[in-house]
Amino acid sequence: MPMTANRSLPPAPKRAHYDAIIVGARCAGASTAMLLARAGLKVLAIDRKPYGSDTLSTHALMRPAVLQLSRWGLLETLLKAGTPLIEQATFHYGDQEITLPLDGVADLPGLIAPRRSVLDRVLVDAARAAGAEFLHDMTVADLFANTQGRGRGVEMRGATSMPIRVSADIVIGADGIGSLVARCCGARTTRQGSVSAAHVYGYAPVEPGLGYHWYFREGIAGSLIPTNDGLACIVASVPPRLFDQRFRIGHKRARMEVLEALSPTLAEMAGRAAPDARLQVFRGVPGYLRQAYGPGWALVGDAGFFRDPITSHGISDALRDAEGLASAILDGSEAAFAAWQAERDRFANPILDTTDAVAAFDWTLADIGERHRRLSAVLKAETQALAERQAPILASTASRWPTPHRALANKDKAPAMTDPTTHRNRPETTS
Ligand SMILES: Cc1cc2nc3c(=O)[nH]c(=O)nc-3n(C[C@H](O)[C@H](O)[C@H](O)COP(=O)(O)OP(=O)(O)OC[C@H]3O[C@@H](n4cnc5c(N)ncnc54)[C@H](O)[C@@H]3O)c2cc1C
Repeated sequence: MPMTANRSLPPAPKRAHYDAIIVGARCAGASTAMLLARAGLKVLAIDRKPYGSDTLSTHALMRPAVLQLSRWGLLETLLKAGTPLIEQATFHYGDQEITLPLDGVADLPGLIAPRRSVLDRVLVDAARAAGAEFLHDMTVADLFANTQGRGRGVEMRGATSMPIRVSADIVIGADGIGSLVARCCGARTTRQGSVSAAHVYGYAPVEPGLGYHWYFREGIAGSLIPTNDGLACIVASVPPRLFDQRFRIGHKRARMEVLEALSPTLAEMAGRAAPDARLQVFRGVPGYLRQAYGPGWALVGDAGFFRDPITSHGISDALRDAEGLASAILDGSEAAFAAWQAERDRFANPILDTTDAVAAFDWTLADIGERHRRLSAVLKAETQALAERQAPILASTASRWPTPHRALANKDKAPAMTDPTTHRNRPETTS
């Protein structure tokens, strides 16, 4: 018998050209891939992280996200994966408690906070089932363009593979805050927020049936978010200046001090974590909105819009904008992309305003409730608009879109990129 090494081949794309290539395969990228594949497009999604891996997130989904997942046929799958249904939220303003029911809104049974290793995997599985191709453990290192300066393909490599080039009608950046696609395509920052908060979180076992708990005292905040595996994500949130001063003594000790100040019960629950349990730390990034599309490219999820995690709205934004972008790609006209960006901004601006009003930590216990009511009104309007949205691609199986998509096919109408040959290392711009 010949002696052959039993080495698996490095992952490789099946085609040289796709209708859409998506850089980043988490909630924004995998949702977009799923929706486009359900409409019959050839889609490749690439992520440098492994399939089913975790990422920075405190998991709490708001109504718009749960509504989208429900319409896409995935809520049941997430519940079956052991994600607890959350039926109430309690706001703790100092020693005052206000509990609100969460069921029965927009026909939803409640809310959920799936671990990202669960949510992102369910989205990837649904996209794969619809025919999308995924390459994990692959890093996109560069984008290349044709001579008209349109974003037309990516160069990627795995740990052991040679660089591979693949082209597409459209390259979508779902690659998060540090988006390479945004940088390479010169996406303008159209709005820059000025406030951010630091968040330090870990997991602890809790009894079943708990709701969301949001805690506020002057200058600090925290939360308890029940997630999979009988655990809750317990978060301490502080302004960056306080983080820099106090968390130098050690993240564990400083987080416990914040939790203790918010609520001794919350601190006691956090103290049930295994002694060697690791904490996750995010020092904060101010919110921003970036230009959502250009010739041959688009941005979705955090790549295009970021708001502080304190209002737990990032995943809702990602899913909502994935659906809007997928509809624009299927339409293919410049007008459809412009309408999608306008719709994104109509949702995003009030979300950023109300998020920054909480993340600023310039409130008192007397007026934080009013800021939450403003946020709640924004969420209500968003949920209502989503419930009424005419999205043509919600079904779990769809035949190929009747007319071939013409993703930014109107080359003459689309503004050309300034560097027609390569986008490498183009600095991010602000305006
Ligand atoms: C501390 C914290 C807590 C949060 N808590 C909540 C919450 O409770 N609720 C909520 O709704 N939102 C929350 N958010 C926000 C939420 O996590 C984000 O909005 C969401 O993850 C955005 O999803 P995305 O798919 O756009 O990007 P990401 O989740 O950032 O995924 C981007 C992916 O792109 C990949 N990638 C990047 N560059 C490349 C490359 N060059 N090649 C290949 N792959 C690449 C990365 O590996 C990554 O997997 C939180 C955020 C933070 C930081």
